[in-house]
Amino acid sequence: MKRDIVIIGGGVVGLMCAYNLFKQGRQVTLIDEHTIEDSTSFGNAGLLSAFDKTPLSYPGIVTNTLKLMIKGQSPVIFHPTLDLKLYKWLYQFVQSANETRTKKTMMLFEKYGQISIDIYKDLVYNVGIDFDFHHKGMLSVFTQKNTYEDKLEKYNYIDENRFEIFNKEKIKEYLPFSNNKIKGAILFKKNAHIDPGKLMLGLKKYLQDSGVEFILNEKIVDIKYDNKKIKSVSSKNTEYKADTFIMSTGYKTSLARKLNKNLILTPAKGYSITFSMPKELKPKTSTLFNDLFIVMTPRFNDVRLTSKLELGSNNKEVVKKQIESIKKNFKEYSIPFEMKNEKLWSGFRPLTPNDIPLIGRDETYSNLVYAMGLGWLGMTFSPAVGKTISDLIVKNQSNSKNDDILLFSGFYQ
Ligand SMILES: Cc1cc2nc3c(=O)[nH]c(=O)nc-3n(C[C@H](O)[C@H](O)[C@H](O)COP(=O)(O)OP(=O)(O)OC[C@H]3O[C@@H](n4cnc5c(N)ncnc54)[C@H](O)[C@@H]3O)c2cc1C
Repeated sequence: MKRDIVIIGGGVVGLMCAYNLFKQGRQVTLIDEHTIEDSTSFGNAGLLSAFDKTPLSYPGIVTNTLKLMIKGQSPVIFHPTLDLKLYKWLYQFVQSANETRTKKTMMLFEKYGQISIDIYKDLVYNVGIDFDFHHKGMLSVFTQKNTYEDKLEKYNYIDENRFEIFNKEKIKEYLPFSNNKIKGAILFKKNAHIDPGKLMLGLKKYLQDSGVEFILNEKIVDIKYDNKKIKSVSSKNTEYKADTFIMSTGYKTSLARKLNKNLILTPAKGYSITFSMPKELKPKTSTLFNDLFIVMTPRFNDVRLTSKLELGSNNKEVVKKQIESIKKNFKEYSIPFEMKNEKLWSGFRPLTPNDIPLIGRDETYSNLVYAMGLGWLGMTFSPAVGKTISDLIVKNQSNSKNDDILLFSGFYQ
């Protein structure tokens, strides 16, 4: 049996591709090696934070990280490895940390962030999937005087629709748990947040009910090609033929390597601590502690802290030392309170060196489409990426005929 479209990997990117393709009338089969109940797309912070967002590789990242390392507050952990790919990634990361690249990336973030927010709104208000979508802005908090002053220089004008600079009273109103060590805060009003696990389960159910075929607990281990086309992909026991294949396997690149495709992305491990806290201390909206790279997201019943960027590790284990380090850094800026019913989690961001995803058709096998590399912003941009991939396939376009691929794909940067 030959299928229409087979998607390998049901993280948020795979599901958003499935959703957009299904909406455009295509027959979709989604294969995942697990049950789609716990991947990177589940335990993350759930920020939709495309607006006024500086990419990871901004000018000054290296010196700022070194300073934080000296203070013992650095979110970055580097495990030396013999894998040359990581050093190539690091080289490209440092190269990307320049003013021109940052401006271009921030412009792209705004464009694809808006497309994504519109799709999320459609999912909530028209399709009826509930995933605690809150469009209340993201509070950017500064714990270092110099980074706050640098930021204020960039926001030395008034745009009430976009941002608000908070005074001490407003900071306390939004962050009742905070102590007085915070140097300043800016609310970036266009950002939003969601419950990522609820989104994943809601979308999965909606797609299953709509007739999208899910084949779960099925790991794809091989790819067969013939005459510049992918013929089939196979698990240990079954071969799946299709007209088009989408690879959305998150940080895992081993399938692409079978085609000699070297995708420059690296797993960047992060952690989350989900806990309950006194209601009156909960933050009013999602909050990014800029200098610490810690995010705190208020949720329906609890709160989630996420942090750390561990490079050179594939180990899924939750390392207690890192959890303690997140708590220690956070508690420095909070009044004492008890974190109750803690749930610990770790996951891997599929990180490209310049925060631009790897999306589009394979150069050799044109019926293979990549939807990878959304890094630390997969919840933020997956709806727009799903739509772009869907348009590319439905309109039967080559990469060069699709403006969004040319603009927003790392294959063209
Ligand atoms: C700590 C942390 C906080 C984050 N916070 C945010 C945030 O606030 N906002 C935001 O926008 N993003 C955030 N992210 C990033 C976001 O979570 C990721 O970008 C996103 O989840 C990646 O989705 P994905 O679909 O590419 O990968 P995944 O969610 O990893 O899904 C890939 C799927 O592919 C399957 N798979 C892999 N290989 C195979 C195979 N061979 N056969 C079959 N199936 C396979 C896996 O089982 C998995 O289900 C955060 C990430 C972390 C770690």
